[in-house]
Amino acid sequence: MKILVLNAGSSSHKACLFDLSRLAESNQTPNSIWRAALDWTHAEGMVELTATNQEGGKIKAALPITDRAEGIAAMLETLVQGQTQVLRALSEIDVVGHRVVHGGREYVDSVRVNDEVKDAIRRLIPLAPVHNPANLHGLETMERILGHIPQVAVFDTAFHARMAEAASTYPGPYEWLEKGIRRYGFHGISHQYVAQRAAVMMGRDIASLRILTCHLGNGCSLAAVKDGISIDTTMGFTPLDGLMMGSRSGSVDPGILIYLMRQEGYGVDALDTLLNKASGLKGISGISNDMRLVVEAMEAGHKQATLAIDMFIHRLRQEMGAMMASLGGLDAIVFTAGIGENSPLVWQRACHPFEFLGVKLREDELGRAKDDQDIAAADSAVRVLVIHTQEEWAIAQACLSILQPVA
Ligand code: ADP
Repeated sequence: MKILVLNAGSSSHKACLFDLSRLAESNQTPNSIWRAALDWTHAEGMVELTATNQEGGKIKAALPITDRAEGIAAMLETLVQGQTQVLRALSEIDVVGHRVVHGGREYVDSVRVNDEVKDAIRRLIPLAPVHNPANLHGLETMERILGHIPQVAVFDTAFHARMAEAASTYPGPYEWLEKGIRRYGFHGISHQYVAQRAAVMMGRDIASLRILTCHLGNGCSLAAVKDGISIDTTMGFTPLDGLMMGSRSGSVDPGILIYLMRQEGYGVDALDTLLNKASGLKGISGISNDMRLVVEAMEAGHKQATLAIDMFIHRLRQEMGAMMASLGGLDAIVFTAGIGENSPLVWQRACHPFEFLGVKLREDELGRAKDDQDIAAADSAVRVLVIHTQEEWAIAQACLSILQPVA
């Protein structure tokens, strides 16, 4: 089976192709046989197309295209011709899996796309005004290019959709619930994948584990995964809630927003930009949203960079503690995504305060590794795992289980 995975955003499109017939030989999480991306921010009136295949073929080109559908079509052409060709015809693709950001309360699982699903994604646009339109457009464009092949929507919110009301309701007026103003949570595809992978690495059944998953990338969120279900998470109604992030503030006193509106005349768009683009590591350090650059500046003695890192860690620990309280115990902590997979400094500083619970890291020098690794000491009461998130593979697996359900 050949599964195409599409992650359609507002400023980029990323796609990859898995060939399951080539998987049988290895038990490893598979590499895709082709991947491609469109960067719409490259230059005015242009899109940058990059593609690679498993044999080392590469394409990089700036194309005079502004129409998103035309760009997607050009990207798919690299599957069937030129340096990166891996298929004879697009008709060889069996199914397309889409990352869809918002599935509201309705979708607790991935689903095969039909008109009803498309209507739901459209109806949920007010909750994800940037992402859901791009996701819907991706679905419809694939339909036009590939005809009526099966398509599967894999929602970033679905894994959190079983959270209890006490965890998902904001303490505003009760009417908020009726209006759909509640905690949805995001990064669900990643949290679910790494929690399942953690259970495999521990040789345990996920149905009896309490796992704290830390997705720390440009966007950062934690999830409390009990018996395989997300029972709490730090992102909320939007991806702005919770931890301090690259350029997002995370939770702030909502009174600050009222103050800024009243005293400084802030409007909706200015607040949106302030909290999403000019806050977090970038806002405090004044240097960058990129953790590597902020750490470099800290090491060179930069005061604001040092404060930014100290705050990032402080807030991470606070929220880790909150998730542990929701879990009522802890078997494993998982770190994943750009920062979580690569930063020994974050592992060490994040785990340090939990030594009193028996969380103990290995004493040898910890470092980044190609493979998933257990960084806890042998006698640690809690496993601490660094797992490379594989959202695309998780989407491909969702397609497989919908098309070929295990009896
Ligand atoms: P996204 O959320 O956009 O998918 P990523 O998961 O790629 O982002 O994470 C991006 C973040 O990971 C950036 O802040 C980057 O600095 C950080 N990162 C990547 N490599 C390292 C590293 N070696 N050490 C520390 N941080 C890193």
